[in-house]
Amino acid sequence: MAAAESDREVPSALCTEFLNFSAKDTASKWLQVTDLYKEVYQHLARYVPKIYCLGPNLNPQSEDLLAQLLLQAPLEWYLCGEDPSTGLAKLEQNNQPSQLCGHVFRVGEPTYSCRECAADPTCVLCMQCFLGSVHKEHRYRMTTSGGGGFCDCGDTEAWKKGPYCQKHEPNISDSCQEDPLAHLSTDMIARCYNVFAIVLKYAVDMLTWDKEDELPPGLEPPDRGDTYYCMLFNDEVHTYEQVIYTLQKAVNCTQKEAVSFATTVDRDGRKSVRFGDFAFCEQAKSVIVRNTSRQSKPLRVQVMHSSVVAHQCFALKALHWLGHVIGYSDALRRILCQVGLERGPEGENSSLVDTLMLCDSKMWKGARNVYHQLFMSSLLMDLKYKKLFAIQFAKNYERLQSDYVKDDHDREFSVTDLSVQMFTVPSLARMLITEENLMTTIIRTFVDHLRHRDLQGRFQFERYTAQQAFKFRRVQSLIGDLKYVLISRPTEWSDQLREKFLEGLDTFLELFKCMQGMDPVVRQVGQHIEMEPEWEAAFTLQMKLTHIISMMQEWCATDERVLIEAYKKCLTALTHCHSGFTDGEQPITLSMCGHSVDTIRYCVSQEKVSIHLPVSRLLAGLHVLLSKMEVAYRFPEQLPLSELSPPMLIEHPLRCLVLCAQVHAGMWRRNGFSLVNQIYYYHNVKCRVEMFDKDLIMLQAGASMMDPNHFLMIVLSRFELYHIFSSADCRKSYNRENTNKDVVQQNNTLIEEMLHLIMMVVGERFEAGVGQVEGCDEIKREIIHQLCIRPMAHSELVKALPENENKETGMERVIDCVASFKKPGVTGRGLYELRPECAKQFNLYFHHYSRADQSKAEEAQRKLKRQNGEDMALPPPMLPPFSPLFASLVNILQCDVLLGMLGAVLQWAVEPSGGHWSESMLQRVLHLIGMGLLEEQQQLKNSSEDHDVSFNFTLKISRPGEAPSNTASVLALLENLQNAPHLEVHKDMIRWILKMVASIKTMRELTATTYTVTASGSHGQEEMVCDKDKAERKRKAEMARLRREKIMAQMSEMQRHFINENKELFKQSLEELYASASTSTSLEHSPTSSDAALVCVGPRRSRPREKRQVVTCILCQEEQEIRADSKAMVLAAFVQRSTVMSKNRKRPPHDPEHYDPLFMHPDLSFGTHTGSCGHIMHSHCWQRYFEAVQAKEQRRQQRLRVHTSYDVGNGEFLCPLCECLSNTVIPLLPGTKGSNSCEQPGLGQWLKISGQQIKAMHSAHRKLQPVGVDAVEETEEQCPAPENFRIDYTPMSPYSSTIKEMLTTFGTATYKVGLKVHPNEQDPRVPIMCWGSCAYTIQSIERLLVDEEKPLFGSLPCRQDDCLSSLARFGSACWTAASQPSVQGHYIRLVAALIPDPQVETSPCILDIDMLHLLVSVVLSYGSVHSQDSSGLSVDAVQLHFFHLITVAHMVQMLLTSGPEEVTMEQESGGAEREEEEDICALYNTLRTHLGSSLPEVASGWHLWRCVKTGILPYLRGAALFFHHLNGVPTPPELHAICPGQWEVLCGYLSLPSNLLQLYHSQKELLEPLLYGWCSHPGVRQTLQGGGVLVSFPRESNSLIDLPDDYSALINQASSFTCPKSGGDKSRAPTLCLVCGSMLCSQSYCCQTELDGEDVGACTAHTFACGAGVGIFLRVRESQVLFLSGKTKGCFYAPPYLDDYGETDQGLRRGNPLHLCRQRYRKIQKLWRQHSVTEEIGHAQEANQTLVGIDWQHL
Ligand SMILES: [Zn+2]
Ligand SMILES: [Zn+2]
Ligand SMILES: [Zn+2]
Ligand SMILES: [Zn+2]
Ligand SMILES: [Zn+2]
Ligand SMILES: [Zn+2]
Ligand SMILES: [Zn+2]
Repeated sequence: MAAAESDREVPSALCTEFLNFSAKDTASKWLQVTDLYKEVYQHLARYVPKIYCLGPNLNPQSEDLLAQLLLQAPLEWYLCGEDPSTGLAKLEQNNQPSQLCGHVFRVGEPTYSCRECAADPTCVLCMQCFLGSVHKEHRYRMTTSGGGGFCDCGDTEAWKKGPYCQKHEPNISDSCQEDPLAHLSTDMIARCYNVFAIVLKYAVDMLTWDKEDELPPGLEPPDRGDTYYCMLFNDEVHTYEQVIYTLQKAVNCTQKEAVSFATTVDRDGRKSVRFGDFAFCEQAKSVIVRNTSRQSKPLRVQVMHSSVVAHQCFALKALHWLGHVIGYSDALRRILCQVGLERGPEGENSSLVDTLMLCDSKMWKGARNVYHQLFMSSLLMDLKYKKLFAIQFAKNYERLQSDYVKDDHDREFSVTDLSVQMFTVPSLARMLITEENLMTTIIRTFVDHLRHRDLQGRFQFERYTAQQAFKFRRVQSLIGDLKYVLISRPTEWSDQLREKFLEGLDTFLELFKCMQGMDPVVRQVGQHIEMEPEWEAAFTLQMKLTHIISMMQEWCATDERVLIEAYKKCLTALTHCHSGFTDGEQPITLSMCGHSVDTIRYCVSQEKVSIHLPVSRLLAGLHVLLSKMEVAYRFPEQLPLSELSPPMLIEHPLRCLVLCAQVHAGMWRRNGFSLVNQIYYYHNVKCRVEMFDKDLIMLQAGASMMDPNHFLMIVLSRFELYHIFSSADCRKSYNRENTNKDVVQQNNTLIEEMLHLIMMVVGERFEAGVGQVEGCDEIKREIIHQLCIRPMAHSELVKALPENENKETGMERVIDCVASFKKPGVTGRGLYELRPECAKQFNLYFHHYSRADQSKAEEAQRKLKRQNGEDMALPPPMLPPFSPLFASLVNILQCDVLLGMLGAVLQWAVEPSGGHWSESMLQRVLHLIGMGLLEEQQQLKNSSEDHDVSFNFTLKISRPGEAPSNTASVLALLENLQNAPHLEVHKDMIRWILKMVASIKTMRELTATTYTVTASGSHGQEEMVCDKDKAERKRKAEMARLRREKIMAQMSEMQRHFINENKELFKQSLEELYASASTSTSLEHSPTSSDAALVCVGPRRSRPREKRQVVTCILCQEEQEIRADSKAMVLAAFVQRSTVMSKNRKRPPHDPEHYDPLFMHPDLSFGTHTGSCGHIMHSHCWQRYFEAVQAKEQRRQQRLRVHTSYDVGNGEFLCPLCECLSNTVIPLLPGTKGSNSCEQPGLGQWLKISGQQIKAMHSAHRKLQPVGVDAVEETEEQCPAPENFRIDYTPMSPYSSTIKEMLTTFGTATYKVGLKVHPNEQDPRVPIMCWGSCAYTIQSIERLLVDEEKPLFGSLPCRQDDCLSSLARFGSACWTAASQPSVQGHYIRLVAALIPDPQVETSPCILDIDMLHLLVSVVLSYGSVHSQDSSGLSVDAVQLHFFHLITVAHMVQMLLTSGPEEVTMEQESGGAEREEEEDICALYNTLRTHLGSSLPEVASGWHLWRCVKTGILPYLRGAALFFHHLNGVPTPPELHAICPGQWEVLCGYLSLPSNLLQLYHSQKELLEPLLYGWCSHPGVRQTLQGGGVLVSFPRESNSLIDLPDDYSALINQASSFTCPKSGGDKSRAPTLCLVCGSMLCSQSYCCQTELDGEDVGACTAHTFACGAGVGIFLRVRESQVLFLSGKTKGCFYAPPYLDDYGETDQGLRRGNPLHLCRQRYRKIQKLWRQHSVTEEIGHAQEANQTLVGIDWQHL
């Protein structure tokens, strides 16, 4: 087993040789020689194999040390000509660093880009530079780096503004152009040159060396042994698991070693897996090859001679060294660049840099990374050589890309990835385009790699293989490069740039020609298609090219000459594509309404049609630019406008739009989903700019050059609707003839779509150039229409808008004009709402609405109108005028063919007998008429006096139809329709139209006479219409009111009926309401028996009013009284372990089997919390329910392996009413009855009685023990039990059998969960755990009330009150279900902690006891003792004695831990507390007499009393909660509010003197011995001297850790976090524990650990120590909160970080700056403090089933 051999020692003979070595001497020898190259090679040949690769395990530390000593040191001496430590320092001093920051990014480090100033999104700043830059005040974007790349601070080309941060601001004295070599002596330059040349040559030789057994000449080792390595190389084909499996077989290693090998191979690209002689290694190689060659090409393995490996190791080291040395001086850097780029002996492209680049794909990952880094820190940091390097890079570009495409490593490991560093620099890009013809090179390389073509030379992706698909993915990176080159548009054009750009465009058009018409489809009739055709590749191509196409157009838009040439070229290309568009297609003549046109016979539904038309679309884009840049008007003679054939231009885009319409009409159903998807993407925001939008523009362009009648006839023909509309007779007969219903349906949809298309052609004028609009009008309109659907969040809007190549939508510039922002609350997100004044711009037929959007928007807008009391018409909005080039489009509205079509639809609507029309058809017709009217009105308004408006829509619609049939005019038809009963919904719109017609007529008449009064005249007209309107609306409103009243009356009648029928049910539910509230509130609000102050503990305690407590079972709805002897009622409950209150997270978890939980340490490190949703059931009902859940779960597991959000096997279930996660039930028990208070013993007497009782119990218990314990037999007999203490009496349990059963159930559950053990109802620790849980839950609730600033009583929800009552009462009863002696044993030990008892051996010292836990446990366990007492001693008296004793103990505890006095401020208090201060000093001094110097001296009682008073408050409040719930005493109203004087009320309620010190001073004699006993416990002194955990009081509530306001601070923190297990590697998923602040390496193999025999991830493992199984984390890279509970439960939760738009960014995709939202963080903290995290997970998992399937334990 090679890998396991121990490291070999370096032979001692070598050591002496090394010791005698002098770097200085070697260097001076080198200075003498003539052939330095040979000399250095000899040196390397001799030493390298002696240092590196001497055994199976490399030893990097000693290797590096030796390499430094023997190899680098002489080089440095030579270089400096003196001691390098001084020489290099001098260099550094004289260096004038460049202004570039050049900080290289680590994986996960935050990077910043300014959205206002960055030249392109790849320009980024490091955090330090960003914070010192002007951009932090701008709109910026933040992302995490994927590693590689560097900070662009200081690069003036990267930033439009503010290129320098404060640190990199250039000094004015520096002249930038200075040659860095100027400061260096020629001697130095020469030496430097020599060393760099040799070292770089050596490194290049070795890294590109491909022989396994030989070395380059001059490096052959003096002696070579039979030592080889079996080297395994990385590939991206084989999985981790395959490699691990193979290695275990091949080199016989353990799985752990194999994992480590595989990890290294993945990281470094190669790893030796075996060392030994040749045969040994060869054998391993053959096994690996054999094992991995079955499915794919085998893993690459080489058997390499150790000396080869050694030299390669040193070669890497040498590159590191070069990078290090040039860091000292820009001059050295420049020399290295020079050396690297110097042309080699082989001529062109033979420099060392070229050699490295060209061998890139042959090298392993590690080697590539090292030399890429060197390139970045040398060539790319020197502006002069960056340019030269860029030229070389461009020259080799094609070769490098081809290598990359064949290679299988990711792009980040390829040298081609450096393109971004050069191509995005505008000056370099421009230079490369003009000098190296880069644009053409890139496109040509791209085209060359896509070889699947059909017969016409078009791309064909139909049947391309997986391998081709893989290659296709890799080729796409070329498009990225093209994008970089084009991203900044030239401000000036040289002739050469024009020439090269147009050459590039030519190549680009060649690419487009291959795409024009690709992936054509043919409608499937009869059978469904057999196989979904491949469509994604073509769309991927289109999508990737979208930005390029847009950028090309933008380039053209900056130069008229380029635009004109480009337009010509594009037109030629289009003509070439469709030269024969009429070939083989029959010409036909269409005629209609007195017009006729020649076209071809072509049916989309029968012939091939393609959705890909990039040439047409580019031409459309350029055509718009002609208009926008006014080239069309200024240089018409230079444009080939006469060559344009409008029918040819529109043909293909029209086919494509018809295809969409037919798909909508359901005609292409048999073509499957692939077509549906294509249509979807065609309209999708990602593609539409260069697809759908451009097709529409092409139609507009074509139509603007055609007779509108001809255009419409061709449209009709392509929609295959011509036969319906061709003549008036056809239209009429179409309606009468009852054809196939499906066909009618189809035609209806087609007509709707066609009308919509006409609307778009006439109405879409928001593209600058088509209409007369500003650039931002388009985006405004988009936003308005989105917000017309509903208010939207920022991110939703961004998603709905097209992004440019800079990922900008332009939204921020205009959003505030059209919308107002509404901030989010604690949940939800911020929303933008449309400004009301913008609603009038709403266009129901907005071209980017999907049908769903359209109907949502329609509904929303109608609702808005209703709310505003307006009429319901949604008329078209006002439109901007067309640009002159498109101006003729308006004539479509008034052309004969259109009017004929409008008339036909209206006619059908008037006689709706056949049903061959639809309401949406009519709606569209009305909309079109509205558009015509608006157009006319607009033109009339804008026309000047002498100019006649030729657009006369009103006239046209008033004229009856053509002669033969004499159809009614459109207007007449409308008037007719106004009264049609079946068109109620459209009446408002028709009324609007008629009103418009009237108003326009008035306008015309007025202009005919005196146009000056136009305005007022039409106004009067409008007013009249208005009045009529008002009356109509009033009538409608009245109708609506009557209708509403009728409905209401009907409903209340129905309700009465229902109530009568279900009387019983109603009564029950009311009672249930009452009952569930009663358990707690009844106690509180019952009138107190007397005016006396309320007291909750002791013989004077107030009596609760006896009241029958009746509750209703949520399952069977039956009522039940809570009585000891009746059926058990239970409360659903959830018990969990908790560390929420822990003051010591370092305490290791207890050993569950041996842990003694009797005393809780005051650090509260682990507790058991019980919560409940407050829902009550019969125990038997619950049992039946739970069994059903179990059975269901069993069935489910058998059927399918679906998980549930709860673990039935662990007793978990969901509350049947509220689905709250529960894992047990608490029985409800009646309150304790008050005992009649006869004379009760005082403290002294009680201490005596109690002592006797304990002694008696001691002896009784000893008797029970097995014989053999006989040592103290006789002494016991002398302790007779006190009178009335019946030690042998075994009391009867007062409880019914079901209650007894439930006592056991809950006890066992608490024990099981709290200790994390298997259930065991016999374990004596069961009752202890129950008491502990009661105390812990009380404490936790007390803390919550403080944190939330709520009063002690009256503010808790019922469910918590109920839960506490049941817990307390259960606690006092649980001894009945356990063995009495063991409970008494607990009691004895608890008491012994207060009253020293020689028979109890190990009592904790009072510093190690949490007093509330002690109080609760001792009070609750006393029941077992009291049951044997018949002396009339009341429980109340005993409770009070214990309470007083423990209170004193707690004060002592606090005095011991109070710590030294703080800063002495105003200490003088009024006389009120003078007494307390004196008393406390007295007590403190007593303690000091017992403990001496362990306690510091304290001068004033003021400080002590303050400490005690604030420290004891939580305990007193906890005690009050406890006794209130245990004894059911009503609470004083003063404690229901936060007001002054609480202390006195609280003390009174607890039967305490308000000067607590009286407890001690009044019983001094009795307490003094106890005090002495406490102080003399050895633990006290030890703890005070620092030997234990000292907790000070009051214990502050724990908070989640503080988070920084700026999220990037967290990213930065996480980016420097390295995995603690894999030596310095960056963690991929750094995750922050919000409870303790630990950073963890989550979701990764490296940090998995074993927990209870299972591998778990770092987070899960951490929760068990930090949160007792519950964890709250922040996944820093994802910006996501993670809740974990146990191993199987978890959910994600919205992070508390929001951007300025009030949104979270889970996954950090948007990159807006994020800031902490304290409100939301407090909400998470509250969930944690309330112990609701697990419950939250449960709800999340119930709501989202996919969460259940996640392997949470591996996070
Ligand atoms: Zn920087
Ligand atoms: Zn900087
Ligand atoms: Zn900026
Ligand atoms: Zn029931
Ligand atoms: Zn519930
Ligand atoms: Zn933690
Ligand atoms: Zn790790």
